Amino acid sequence: MATNTVFQALDTETNRLAQYFLNRIYEDNSAERKHFLSWLKHDVKELHDKVNIVHKKLLMNQMFPNFAIDTKNDIIAADYRNKGNDQFQLGNSLEAVEHYNNCIAMAKSKEILALAYADRSEVFFTLCMRKECLEEIERALASGYPDEVQMAGRRERIQQLQESANNYYEEVPEIIAKHPTIQSASDCVRIGESGRCVVATRDIDIGEVIAVEKPYTSAVFPNDNLFYCHHCSKLCYNMIACEHCTQALFCGKECKQKSLDLYHRYECPILFALNEYKANDTTLLVALRVALLALNDCFMLNTFEGDHRKVYRSDRYNEIHFLRPTSEPSELDLLHETVLTAFVYELLWAKTSYFHRVTSLWCHQDDFRNKFKEVMLQQLLSTKFNAVKIYDYVHNPKLNETDNYGFGMYSFFPLFAHSCCANVMKSYHGTTMVLRALNTIKKGHQCFVNRYGLRYDAFTEPVRSHMLLVSRLPPCECKACRERWIPHLGNLPQICEQLGIENMEFEHIIKRFIGIDLDVAKEYLPRLIAMLKECEEAEPLGNALILKRMIAHCYAIFGNKRML
Ligand SMILES: [Zn+2]
Ligand SMILES: [Zn+2]
Ligand SMILES: [Zn+2]
Repeated sequence: MATNTVFQALDTETNRLAQYFLNRIYEDNSAERKHFLSWLKHDVKELHDKVNIVHKKLLMNQMFPNFAIDTKNDIIAADYRNKGNDQFQLGNSLEAVEHYNNCIAMAKSKEILALAYADRSEVFFTLCMRKECLEEIERALASGYPDEVQMAGRRERIQQLQESANNYYEEVPEIIAKHPTIQSASDCVRIGESGRCVVATRDIDIGEVIAVEKPYTSAVFPNDNLFYCHHCSKLCYNMIACEHCTQALFCGKECKQKSLDLYHRYECPILFALNEYKANDTTLLVALRVALLALNDCFMLNTFEGDHRKVYRSDRYNEIHFLRPTSEPSELDLLHETVLTAFVYELLWAKTSYFHRVTSLWCHQDDFRNKFKEVMLQQLLSTKFNAVKIYDYVHNPKLNETDNYGFGMYSFFPLFAHSCCANVMKSYHGTTMVLRALNTIKKGHQCFVNRYGLRYDAFTEPVRSHMLLVSRLPPCECKACRERWIPHLGNLPQICEQLGIENMEFEHIIKRFIGIDLDVAKEYLPRLIAMLKECEEAEPLGNALILKRMIAHCYAIFGNKRML
């Protein structure tokens, strides 16, 4: 399931931009390198001063690259369309739609767009996806598709179909008793006094919803932009493209307009260059989006710490601002992110009107620029730790599994501490995160999530501590680590018997028997929960682990929306 970015970042070449900077400016002089790194981290106090120093050096040494230019291209678009047609002939609908979506992102002229919309309408027609098919027919006609009779015929035939019942996922659950001062939480928890800590205010049952949180903002991975909306990050098969760049596709006109108004008009001219330069910073886009959005409301910051009368909200920048990185950046990390901030600043400055606008809030241009640099650098340093990967269930008959497609910036979720044997799990309905108890949690006990993907049954204790150490994260003090739990896979035949199903392998139960079948999940959940209640105290012995994994799987598919 979703793992944190911290470890992924270590797999790739680290601090590429810091090396680039040091090699060019200090060449072989290691004493000067060391001095600069230490000085930048410890002596330059303000974040925006760090960026200004680095930016000036980059400028003086002519170190800004020729940023890549994004252009729409009908020839490339037509090529994608041909590939789509080939896949459609072979009966591969998903691949066909992927190529058509690429074609639409690339297309410059209305003619190509019209053809691609018409092609998509045919795929959705054969798949009986009524709503999508009708939308494509209207788009094709609006773009001047020549064969109006053909479209009218298709429209008539698809309209005879019933609208699909849309029951392939569960509704987002409601919190029954909302917390009076935590916007996204139930009143069964409170925020603890120190650091990252959420505590139960009463006994919480297995499966009880603890929080339902929408992200402040989210961003889709560049590779997943063909099926997930650039603005709301929701799954969509028939997206429309930004007219100016090849990087942004939207689920509809509304998202396109909202995105343009809020941030995309600044992001649009630089997105292509940024995607080329992202290096190992997979969280770059979400950090930039937070920075662009934050500048609208970051004049009015209020700390929440220590004042529980204030409402802890998920829909504004304020709470995000006070989420700090879990560990201090190294000198090289800091330089890397500072160079990246300078790159982003330079791009925005050179290619967009972002810094040219003068609003009533920002009478001094320098203040505005410095504020941007500060928020951007702070976000680059902290999103690695605080942004959360969002996953979806991939419908594949052989291996139903989760697939991460983007990042969300949530403000309540990061307040939970990590445990390798977490008693709270997260699942998604689109980008809306649902947190549920995975164990009985007694009043006054702490709630834990698995922040780093380090489940005790997936990695041994030495591997887990090593991974935390190399990421400069504090050592884990969870029960599984303290007591060196050894995972027990329990008595599977006994579980099958109690469930009244034939004896089968664990993987088979997860991938085939439950799979992504909501009805099966709903039928067996109450029994699984009752069985876990009987044996959870004995974990890691007995059947607790295996039951928890089955329950987690059932909840994880509740928000699944995939059709293809
Ligand atoms: Zn959308
Ligand atoms: Zn754009
Ligand atoms: Zn642990």
